[in-house]
Amino acid sequence: MQNIYNLTLKELENYFIEKKDKKFRATQVFEWLYRKKIVSWEEMTNLKKEVILDLSETFEMRTIHITKVEKDLDVSKYLFSLDDSEKVEAVLMNHDYGNSVCISTQVGCNMGCRFCESGRLKKIRNLETHEMVEQLLEIEKECGKRISHVVVMGIGEPFDNYENLIKFIEIINNDHGIALGSRHITVSTCGIIPKIEEFSNLPYQVNLAISLHAPTEELRNQIMPINKAYPLESLIHTLKKYIEKTNRRVTFEYILLEGVNDTKKHAEQLANLVHGMNCYINLIPYNETNNISFKRSKKETILEFYDILKKNKINATIRREFGSKISAACGQLRSKKEENDEIILHDQHWKSERS
Ligand code: SAH
Repeated sequence: MQNIYNLTLKELENYFIEKKDKKFRATQVFEWLYRKKIVSWEEMTNLKKEVILDLSETFEMRTIHITKVEKDLDVSKYLFSLDDSEKVEAVLMNHDYGNSVCISTQVGCNMGCRFCESGRLKKIRNLETHEMVEQLLEIEKECGKRISHVVVMGIGEPFDNYENLIKFIEIINNDHGIALGSRHITVSTCGIIPKIEEFSNLPYQVNLAISLHAPTEELRNQIMPINKAYPLESLIHTLKKYIEKTNRRVTFEYILLEGVNDTKKHAEQLANLVHGMNCYINLIPYNETNNISFKRSKKETILEFYDILKKNKINATIRREFGSKISAACGQLRSKKEENDEIILHDQHWKSERS
């Protein structure tokens, strides 16, 4: 059975046109789903019984469920169970400018970044569009707050699930629905060049973030295998074209890993690499995990690194840390910190479910 949250407004209009019904029914349904956020067909009180019956026989509604929530002061981590019992996670962050949700796009990930917890589990499958939409709706329902920003930085590589991702963006951006402004949506990729090119043709002003993490081919090859398929030089070239075409600023994410990519020389190399680009660099204190031996750079090292970028007139910020207590920072969605026993248990649970 098709899921209703897979459908863009256009697709829903086609459904009604095929049924020889009015096109505007689609807008009505869309508004029920995304404005009033109903969870059962019967709640669509301005639709005729036959229409509701037809819809309910054709489409299913919510299929994913929150099975666990971990809350800290300004961050909550959600564990979702999908229809086939696979698990993904999403994170809610409360900023002073609004509430931001970090969503997952795949079960597991094939990119194999050496420092990343998510990628230790190979991709099992892509998430359907509706499973991305539902992460948002379920979190809104649970926390009772309006989500103002979405970052696609959870488990998975969004550009390895491109079509479903684009439909997701189209649905949450639509004016008749959640109407999340495209500037409030950020997609993060490890650098899949053909998809970055496709992304530049989108009619939306969605933000693009690139997981860079190394300023040289050699180092990037070592920590991010994707660099062998799409080398840094080509990536930067593609991004320059992207910026020229879209007139949009690109964000570079740069995790600081002690002794690996955090020396003064690396900072200089990074400054040279992005020199003249309309970009900013988000320096990210690494979230350590017991499974991986990389260490977080010292505070002074991070500050020194930041200063060098600034001296070279590169826009940079140091990411405010979210949820290090509950290990909920985006990109590190399964952790093994001691204070986090329950999540570890889940980890083991998932693994045993799969083996
Ligand atoms: N695959 C996409 C999106 C998911 S990862 C991408 O690569 O961008 C989201 C971000 O979290 C990436 O920048 C990733 O490199 C980073 N990340 C992964 N593990 C991390 C960790 N342990 N601590 C901090 N950031 C991490």
